[in-house]
Amino acid sequence: MSLHIAILALQGAFAEHRKMLESLGAEVFEIRQKKDLTLKCDALILPGGESTTQGKLLRELELFEPLKKRIADGLPVLATCAGTILLAKQLADDPVTHFATMPIVVRRNAYGRQLSSFYADSNFSGIDQNLPMPFIRAPQIVDYDAEVELLASVGQKPVAVRYGNQVAMTFHPEITGNPAIHRCFLEKTVIPARKS
Ligand code: GLN
Repeated sequence: MSLHIAILALQGAFAEHRKMLESLGAEVFEIRQKKDLTLKCDALILPGGESTTQGKLLRELELFEPLKKRIADGLPVLATCAGTILLAKQLADDPVTHFATMPIVVRRNAYGRQLSSFYADSNFSGIDQNLPMPFIRAPQIVDYDAEVELLASVGQKPVAVRYGNQVAMTFHPEITGNPAIHRCFLEKTVIPARKS
């Protein structure tokens, strides 16, 4: 039975996630308006892009409250970059929050102008290969609660974390051509959540 994966497609890098998940055999659909929420869904992808714009559109389109509730109720979520900002309980130096379902503190655009985009390689918990990690105007996870599991670090700094069924990272695995993180998410989070 195939997995049904929803991708928030209001703005940003959603097409790349779609391609990667389809290559893994998932049925993918895009969430653009309220009626899309009626479709059967085993997991949600929150793509990179601009978190301020995404947060504004989520509210304007009345997607914000229903999605927040589903995430809080345990819907598996894979968040990249701006998506991680949407999940954070707190933003450093910024009073704004969005879903706030993950107890992490995130600083937007934390790598400054000079180093605003770069590649790193690192290992990722549960995946037995070094992975390429492209950072694009990336945020940084500057703090996280004890119940948050660290999945990957670059230069001693956390770049991927898990909290319950929410998996969040500050880089873009969807543009690397390497589907290991998406596969790991489907196998270790989405399939077990569907069975439970
Ligand atoms: N800088 C963006 C923000 O603050 C995130 C960048 C990204 O998603 N690539 O929302």
